[in-house]
Amino acid sequence: MRQFREFSATHLYCPNCKASMPVREVLLLVLPDGNLYDYRCLVCGDSLGTKKDKKNINIDTTKERRPNEFRRHNSY
Ligand SMILES: [Zn+2]
Repeated sequence: MRQFREFSATHLYCPNCKASMPVREVLLLVLPDGNLYDYRCLVCGDSLGTKKDKKNINIDTTKERRPNEFRRHNSY
C-alpha cells in the first residue's frame, strides 16, 4: 500500500484565493501547555486560522521541562 504523503501541510479554504489552499504553519506563541500556530495561505500569505498544539497537560510541576522537545520549524 502506498502512503499518501504531504509536506506536513494542511489545506484550508482561503477567502482571497476562493479555494482550498495549502497553508504554511507558523509558530506564533510557545505556551506552557502547547504551541500556538498560525496557518497562512502559501499563495497570498493571508492568515487562515490558528491552531493550538496541545501537549500532554501535566499539572505535576515536579516534572522538569525538556528543552530538546522544542523543535525548529521552517524558517520564518
Ligand atoms: Zn490565499
